[in-house]
Amino acid sequence: MSFTHLGLSEKVLAAVAATGYTTPTPIQEQAIPHVLARKDVLGIAQTGTGKTAAFVLPMLTILEKGRARARMPRTLILEPTRELAAQVKENFDRYGAGQKLNVALLIGGVSFGDQDAKLTRGVDVLIATPGRLLDHTERGGLLLTGVELLVIDEADRMLDMGFIPDIERVCKLVPFTRQTLFFTATMPPEIRRITETFLHNPQKVEVSKPATTAVTVTQCQVPAGREAHEKRELLRRLLREAKDLQNAIIFCNRKREVAVVHKSLQKHGFSVGALHGDMDQSARTAALEQFRKGELPLLVASDVAARGLDIPEVSHVFNFDVPHHPDDYVHRVGRTGRAGRSGMAISLVTPLDQKSMVAIEKLIGQSIPRAEGDFEVRTDASDASERPREQRGRERSRGGRGKPQRGRDRERSHEPREARGEAQPSAEARTAPEARPASEARPAREARPPRESRPPREARPPREGKPSSEPRDGARQQANPSHVPSIGRPEPRRQREADSEPGDHSHLPAFLLRPVRSPAGA
Ligand code: AMP
Repeated sequence: MSFTHLGLSEKVLAAVAATGYTTPTPIQEQAIPHVLARKDVLGIAQTGTGKTAAFVLPMLTILEKGRARARMPRTLILEPTRELAAQVKENFDRYGAGQKLNVALLIGGVSFGDQDAKLTRGVDVLIATPGRLLDHTERGGLLLTGVELLVIDEADRMLDMGFIPDIERVCKLVPFTRQTLFFTATMPPEIRRITETFLHNPQKVEVSKPATTAVTVTQCQVPAGREAHEKRELLRRLLREAKDLQNAIIFCNRKREVAVVHKSLQKHGFSVGALHGDMDQSARTAALEQFRKGELPLLVASDVAARGLDIPEVSHVFNFDVPHHPDDYVHRVGRTGRAGRSGMAISLVTPLDQKSMVAIEKLIGQSIPRAEGDFEVRTDASDASERPREQRGRERSRGGRGKPQRGRDRERSHEPREARGEAQPSAEARTAPEARPASEARPAREARPPRESRPPREARPPREGKPSSEPRDGARQQANPSHVPSIGRPEPRRQREADSEPGDHSHLPAFLLRPVRSPAGA
């Protein structure tokens, strides 16, 4: 099967040929003819299947005829996150290079004025996140009554982020007669309801079973202690010892954990970026770009920030936290092993995560073996600085340094290390980015998130921050012994302990090392 049989225009076929794609992916092969026949489409497909081009290419063909009117976009694409919206725009830029189409991006973090000016000029394709789109319609600068084609992408993620009421509002603002293309990786009941309400006799296109992990991904679980500092130490060890690690995404369940893990890895000399919903747009884009280019081999991310990002060739995924929702596991693991490449997904599993692991294994229909090797966590000297302050206080008090006062102890965390009598970081660590005030590393105070990430009133609570599952008996840990992957050769214990010193990064593979800035004035 080639692209030429799908009904796409000559211009679009030329653009596809220029990208080097010769064969449509299954979702493209199935969806494109329906889109061109102006049918509603319900596409059940994960990212990585080529689903973006499955709607972008026929849209470009359709848009060749007709002209945009001021403030009345002809087509509208809704995306859950700014990054996804930007990626879709990149697709239009790439495949639509030969057409003079106006493509506008309405996302948070960009000034209303610039966006207004663009809308006034007339827009063929409007790509938006729901919150910013509704802000524009409420201000009267945007009319959706000219929309001929509506795309709702990553609908299940929209549900997770609490956008369904916004989606319902948008669906009522566009003409009843429009064509709707609806993409989702999974079909929970709420999504099914939406499709029944807003799609008209849709053509269902399903490219792979939802909630399956690619066969090219080796998955394993590594038992972890329940304390966060124990998990951080284990993560460092896994990163150092992972075989064939080229780049990795490290997933955390909460935004604040992303910040803590990011900071901790930096402190230990890893070259790492972060991606979470509280970062401003330019910081997110910069981190993602650096990761894409390979300048940062590691990226710590939350589900919301990372969902659907087009990051090719991730060799490893680490679940620093086991996700509470099994479909998040599938999405995370889907970052690796793409397009037939091999990948590795490693989950740090505490006793509290057993229930979540049972749900994950049930969903993916396979057991996730425990990794071989001695990965138990000990507490070593370097990690004293990472243990909860109260715990260190208790240790100090046992050592005869006086009874710690909880409140005061917390306040003291803002003091420089010297003043607290703690070990000094190495010269390298002092001159590194983490030498910023401690307050920057602390979880951001719950400022009002931008509208896109704000959970609406009616929506179910966001996943980030859900309570952990109850502990479960250890029976789950007996994974299929015939399929136990090895994630690396554990080094002798003495060697590992020496490795853990925050200032000494000689043990890290060079590409994982954070570039060191020279001390000021040196
Ligand atoms: P998506 O599922 O839209 O995120 O696409 C995943 C990746 O597949 C992107 O890097 C696309 O550029 C790439 N891709 C899309 N269509 C094709 C195709 N027909 N052949 C090869 N790669 C493709």
